[in-house]
Amino acid sequence: MQTAPFDYYRPGTIAEAVDLLTSVDGSRPIAGGHSLLPAMKLRISNPAALVDLGGIPGLSEIDRNGGSLRIGALTTHAAVAASDVVKADCPVLAETAAQIGDPQVRNRGTIGGSLSHADPAADYPTLMRAIGASVHVTGAGGKERTISADDFFVDLFSTGLEAGELVTAVEVPVMTAGQGGAYMKHRHPASSYAVVGVAAIVTVDGGACTAASIGIGGVTGKAERAGAAEAALVGQPPSDETIAAAGTQVAADLTNPIGDLYASGEFRVHLASVLTKRALAEAFGQVG
Ligand SMILES: Cc1cc2nc3c(=O)[nH]c(=O)nc-3n(C[C@H](O)[C@H](O)[C@H](O)COP(=O)(O)OP(=O)(O)OC[C@H]3O[C@@H](n4cnc5c(N)ncnc54)[C@H](O)[C@@H]3O)c2cc1C
Repeated sequence: MQTAPFDYYRPGTIAEAVDLLTSVDGSRPIAGGHSLLPAMKLRISNPAALVDLGGIPGLSEIDRNGGSLRIGALTTHAAVAASDVVKADCPVLAETAAQIGDPQVRNRGTIGGSLSHADPAADYPTLMRAIGASVHVTGAGGKERTISADDFFVDLFSTGLEAGELVTAVEVPVMTAGQGGAYMKHRHPASSYAVVGVAAIVTVDGGACTAASIGIGGVTGKAERAGAAEAALVGQPPSDETIAAAGTQVAADLTNPIGDLYASGEFRVHLASVLTKRALAEAFGQVG
């Protein structure tokens, strides 16, 4: 399978890339190409020009920035999974990255590309919603803004990015004492994408859960927060009964589940409940 013909640009700065994206009709950024190129080969996407971000320096760094980690948009999944600073300060992020696809996908695919693509079956968006990440973007005229993960993911393959805007970095809070976090997925056997993925972040203080956030991907058009399950956890001891009660609440936030030949909507909601319980048990186990 071949793509339709396209022009190719390789800018050396973010400003140049944004200029191209706002001035060349039908242009699209390309990072790792592991979502865009397959879509182009299937003619689902037919950009007239590709603006390759790979020649822009400084977008692949991972830095500790006070209470958060700043991860450049071009950082590959493999680099996130292998990073000592990520493993020490936000282990659930390294564990999530390590579960993406296969070694080829992890060595080419980037965190900025994954978030911008906003595939409901992707792994990062689910964690980003649970952990409270922020997405840094730059647009025309060098205008920078920061979008919370809650606002960034709008719907199926749809984000809060405006035309010509590029994701430059993702900021993720570091885990603190008393916090545990886990990401669990039911892998599609052909692609490794998440049929359903669940991220759980919990805080335990004085023998009770004082905060909980749960992200659920693969069930609806975008990664969701499981607010009812989170509410069922706060103030409760981190026991099996608490986890079971939270698991029963998951369906409340998953209306209009998507279904396909592999997994019906009903099955996806069931998987979300099961994986939520497993992720919570793992997260509480880290702090108990
Ligand atoms: C066989 C296979 C298995 C996979 N399995 C999984 C899996 O298990 N879990 C998972 O989460 N993903 C999986 N993926 C997807 C993979 O993680 C991709 O790498 C990722 O979705 C896109 O990242 P990319 O850098 O390749 O982006 P690209 O394909 O280059 O771009 C994707 C989209 O984002 C836009 N874009 C790219 N970078 C930016 C930026 N900085 N700012 C704004 N827009 C940008 C592009 O224009 C395009 O629309 C799989 C892919 C394949 C081919």
